[in-house]
Parts: sequence; C-alpha cells; structure tokens
Amino acid sequence: MNDLVLKNGRVIDPSQGLDRVTDIAFADGKVAAIGDGLSGTDMRDVSGKIVSPGLIDLHTHVYWGGTSLGVEAELLARTGGVTTFIDAGSAGPGNFHGFRRHVIEPSPVRILPYLNISFPGIFAFSKTVMVGENADMRLIDPREAVRVAREHADLVLGIKVRVGKSASGDSGIMPMDIALDVAEECGLPIMAHLDAPPPSRHDVMGRLRPGDILTHCFRPFPNAPVRADGKVRDEILAARARGVIFDIGHGGGSFGFGTTRAMLAAGFLPDVISSDVHVISIEGPAFDLLTTMSKFLCLGVDLPTVLKLATANAAAAIKRPDLGTLKVGGLGEATVIEQVSGNFDYADSIGEHMVGDKRLLSAGVVLGGKWWHPT
Ligand SMILES: [Zn+2]
Repeated sequence: MNDLVLKNGRVIDPSQGLDRVTDIAFADGKVAAIGDGLSGTDMRDVSGKIVSPGLIDLHTHVYWGGTSLGVEAELLARTGGVTTFIDAGSAGPGNFHGFRRHVIEPSPVRILPYLNISFPGIFAFSKTVMVGENADMRLIDPREAVRVAREHADLVLGIKVRVGKSASGDSGIMPMDIALDVAEECGLPIMAHLDAPPPSRHDVMGRLRPGDILTHCFRPFPNAPVRADGKVRDEILAARARGVIFDIGHGGGSFGFGTTRAMLAAGFLPDVISSDVHVISIEGPAFDLLTTMSKFLCLGVDLPTVLKLATANAAAAIKRPDLGTLKVGGLGEATVIEQVSGNFDYADSIGEHMVGDKRLLSAGVVLGGKWWHPT
C-alpha cells in the first residue's frame, strides 16, 4: 500500500524528461510509482498544480542563531518549497561543529554545507554590522580548514570563498588562492563569490577549475559577465567551456535584470538558479527560491527549464544525482507548486522593477514520502 498519492498534478521531472498530468505515489520514504489511477492511504488531489522533484536551493544561509545572517531552513521549506538547502559557507573551521550539532543534525530538512575558508565563517553580516570575513588575513588558516573539511568529509561539499571590495577588502584575491589550495588538498570544488572589484572578474574567472562554482553569476555592473553592447565576456565563455558552473545566488546585491536579459538574449542560461536567502535578502528583493525562479519565468525561460535549474542541475552541481529527481525507487521528495497569473511586482538588486505576469508559489512539500502542510 502506498503511503501518499498526489493525484492529477502536472508532474514535471526534467531529470527523466517527464512532463504530463498523472499521479505519483510514495511508499517507505521513496517514490513508488508514476502513472494513472494510483491509490494509497493519504490521497491528495493536486489538479491544476505542478509536481516537481524537491527543490534544491544551491545558495542559502541557514546557520540560524549561530551566525547573524542565518535564516530558518524548516520555515523556508514549509513556506517556500525547498527540500534541500545548500549553505554557502556561513560557517568556517572555527564554528562548523556548532552548525553540524545544533542545526544540521536536528533539521528535518536536508542541509548540506560549504565550509568557509575564513575561520569564523561569515561572522559579521547584518543590517547594522557588515565586516567582510576575508578582509583580515589573520582569520585564514589553511591547515585548520583542511582539518575541519576532512573531519566532516561526510557533509562538506566544498570550500566557499568570498572576494571583492566588501568581502575581502585589502586582501584582494589572496583568500581565493588559499581556498583553492585547501580545496585541492581535500579534493573538493570551491564556490566563489565576487562582489565589486578589486579583484576583477579576470582574476577570479581565470582561477576557477572545472566543477568550481561562480555564484552571483548574473550580477550587475561592475564585474558583470556581459558588456554594455550585449556581448558575453570572453573570460566567462572560456570558463563555461571548461566546465565552471554558473549559479545565480540572487541575494541582496548580486542580481540584475539588465544583466539577465542580456545574458539570456546571448543564449547564456545559468546552470543553477538559487536565492542566496539570508537575514536581509529574505525581506526582498530575493525573498526565496520560488520568487527567484518566478523572475526567470517572467523573463521568458520556460517552466520545465526553470525547474531543471533548481532540481537536476543543482543536484549535478553538488554531485548528488540521487537528489532533484522523481525516479521510481529514489528519495520520496517533491515540491507541489502553484503557478498563478496576474501582475506581480519584482525587483532586482539595484532597484529596477519589473511587472511580471507569472508567479510560482509553494503548495506544500513531500519529505520522506510524507506530506508536509505549508503553515
Ligand atoms: Zn551568500
């Protein structure tokens, strides 16, 4: 007997090229079947709604209570449809243990972390206090980073490094070079954040290796990936050609509609859509992953592609093909999404507004093969 059946939804699973109105059943924490006329103990009619693999947000900050920028993953899962949160380096070697013990292990939703190269992680990020964790090189100890990454090798996806005028200040590109050394020593990828120069995108792009992630990839000028004349910059094209992963990481200051329109017009889709949700961006303009995905939908990217960039592609970026899929026998995780029409005001990180005609809302998630009500 199936535990749960979602009936008559539009099941879209880009990992298997699936897009049709049918039923999906869950049993023993797994996807049990996809097809018409399924039955089970908990039957839910999701007519008119979309059933997607559980959404993966590749860039979040969910070390709630342990870092000032953290938000609560469980709350965001209940309201925003995300079942896997990738924490983009909130914790560093000095406070990673607390993240694991007090947040990750008790969490009912999956949290997978990048380890920040800086010892205290992102320690001073709030509305009133903002100090870049890489501005002081005394906070970077590569041996400590290697030790902690190895001790928590079952969890740590890679090394996070933030460089730019606000994140690394006078340290410039140095923290990135150390992060690359640590990553190489541990056999891990890095996720790099670049804000305003210095360093420049040349410095950063030239260093990224295949499988490394550039987050905030569609940021507005300066350090934007596209020129004013609409041409994608050579170093961006070269990085994509060698397998660097481009992640949106919307956040508070890192996403521009102008950049996005130009990149899409040039045929350059991001590899992954993520929110960079944290204590500031959760109040806008990012809000959450589904809002960020809605912006791409309104900018002309079709729904199956938008879903792919927040499920299968995000899973591929972290080398977890068991996530972001509804394959029968796989993890029983799904997001039920409602697409509504109307006139919706969206804003980017530099205050440009756009009226969009579509909006994606969470109508609940399936976790461990069971239904979770949105609050
Ligand atoms: Zn971030």
